[in-house]
Amino acid sequence: MLILNCPYCGMDVDETDLHAGGQAHLKREGPGSDDTAFEDYLFMRENPKGVHFERWRHVYGCGKWFHAARCTNTLEVFGTYSAQTLEPPQAIRDAISEKRPGWSWGTLK
Ligand SMILES: [Zn+2]
Repeated sequence: MLILNCPYCGMDVDETDLHAGGQAHLKREGPGSDDTAFEDYLFMRENPKGVHFERWRHVYGCGKWFHAARCTNTLEVFGTYSAQTLEPPQAIRDAISEKRPGWSWGTLK
């Protein structure tokens, strides 16, 4: 069972109280972007066996979106943080690097 801490209301929340929103930190492509970049934005997603950054919504709680860093293989959660960030906080990146030597932010892109 996946349990995430909502960074807004501070509750440890069971996944049944959350709604998954897919990959976090997508770079939006808008008018003027080329077709390939827009196609990648719409359809291409990472699907790693390991560290992944995801969007979640505390749908049966405060209703806010947040980001979570977790391992898709072990369900280990490295941390949750505000969805209003462009990159994961350094503390979370450090926690991942400590447990997954050799991992670095952006290696799957
Ligand atoms: Zn919440």
